[in-house]
Amino acid sequence: MSNNPATVSATQDMDEFNPFLSMAQLFNEAADLLNLDEGMREVLRRPERELTVSLPIVMDDGSTKVFTGYRVQHNFLRGPCKGGIRFAPDVNLDEIRALSAWMTWKCSVVDIPFGGGKGGVICDPRELSKRELEQITRRYTTGIMDILGPDRDVPAPDMNTDEQTMAWIMDTYSMHVRRTTTAVVTGKPISLGGSRGRREATGRGVMLNCREAMKKIGRRPENTRVIVQGSGNVGGIGALLLYREGYKITSISDMYGAIINENGLDMPQVLEYLRTNKRLEGYTEADHIPNLDQIFQDCDVLVPAATENQITSHNAHRIQAKLIVEGANGPTTAKAQTILDEREITVVPDILANAGGVTVSYFEWVQDRMGYFWTEEMVNTRLEQAIVKAFNDVNSKADEYQVSLRTAAYILAIERVATVYKMRGIFG
Ligand code: GLU
Repeated sequence: MSNNPATVSATQDMDEFNPFLSMAQLFNEAADLLNLDEGMREVLRRPERELTVSLPIVMDDGSTKVFTGYRVQHNFLRGPCKGGIRFAPDVNLDEIRALSAWMTWKCSVVDIPFGGGKGGVICDPRELSKRELEQITRRYTTGIMDILGPDRDVPAPDMNTDEQTMAWIMDTYSMHVRRTTTAVVTGKPISLGGSRGRREATGRGVMLNCREAMKKIGRRPENTRVIVQGSGNVGGIGALLLYREGYKITSISDMYGAIINENGLDMPQVLEYLRTNKRLEGYTEADHIPNLDQIFQDCDVLVPAATENQITSHNAHRIQAKLIVEGANGPTTAKAQTILDEREITVVPDILANAGGVTVSYFEWVQDRMGYFWTEEMVNTRLEQAIVKAFNDVNSKADEYQVSLRTAAYILAIERVATVYKMRGIFG
C-alpha cells in the first residue's frame, strides 16, 4: 500500500465510484439492521451468474471488429431475471454487476415476481451505423441465448438502447427457438407485443414518487423549482409529466450542456426543440450553463436522471435541493448519501424512484403471456397503485427503523428476497 496521500485518495475515489462497492456498502448497512447472518449476506451479495461474450462484427467499411458484451444474472429467486441492456463505451463488469443487483432490489421493492439481471456491450453507439448496431444486437443476443428466455431472463432497454433494439432481440431469439416469443424482452414497440404506457413508465414513476415525497415533506407542486439532469427517456418524460403536474422545471440538460430559466421552462417546447435539433444547444428561451454546474443551482427538487456517480462526497455539500428523486440508477454514491442524510435532504432512492419502468415491463410480460392487451388507462392506474404502495411500504420501514428512505428500501427489498430464500432452502 502506498503512503502517498495522492495515491491513497485516488484509491478511495476509485472505491467510492465503483458502483458494485457502493451497492455492497448500502446492502451491508441494511443487512446489519436486519441482523442477517454472514452466510445469507454472501448469498445475496454475489451474482448468481456472469457471462462475457465476444462479438465479432463486420463493419460498414469491410473491416472486422470484436466487441465485448456482458450479461449478469444477480438473482432469480423471486422469478426470472429482469433488467436492461446498455450500449456505452465505459460499460464494465463491475458496473453491470451493481446494476444487476440493483434490479433484484428494485423488483423486490415494487414486489413484482422477478429477480435482477443486467447486460451491456462496450461500444459507442454515436459512432455506429444502424446496420452495425443491429449486427451487434443480434450477435449479442445469440451469445447470451442459452441464459435468456421468458422464464429465465427478460431484458429491456437501458442507456442507448430502445424499442428497435428490443425488436431485434425478440426477432433473433424467436428465430433460434423457431417460434415468435414476445415475452423474451420488454420495452418493445406496441405493434409487436409492447405495452401501452411502457415508454413513459419510468418518467411516470419518477413523477409519482416525487408526488408522494412532496406530501411527506409537506410541500405542493406550485412554485416548486425542479432541476432535471438528463433529457432522455427518464429525464425528458419525467420533466414533462412534472411540468404537467404544475412544477416549475427551471433546468434540464443533455450530454452536451444544460439550459436554465428561473421563470420555468416550457417543457413541451423544449422537448420539441430537442426532437428536431437532437441537442439543447441553440435553444433561445433559456440561458446555457455547463453540465458540471447544473446540479448545484438553486432549486427545491433535483432529479438526477442521467447516469451513475453524479452526487459524490466531493460535491454533496453543494446540492441546494431539499428533495432528490433519483431517476438514474446509482446517481448518488454511498458516501454522498451519508452527507445528504446529515444535511437532512430527503432522497427517494433509485430502486424506488425509477421502478416505474420495470413495473410496466412486468405488465408487458404478463400481457404477452396472456395474449391480451390492456388500455393505457389500465396500465397507468395499476402503475400508480404499485408505486404508491411501494412508496408507503418503504416509508413505513423508514419510520420503523428510523433510517433514510434509501436504507429503508434496501431493508424491505433484502427482507423479501431473504424470506423466499429461507422458505425455498438451499438446493444441492
Ligand atoms: N433499464 C430499466 C431499469 O434500470 C428497466 C429495466 C426493465 O424494464 O427490465 O430499471
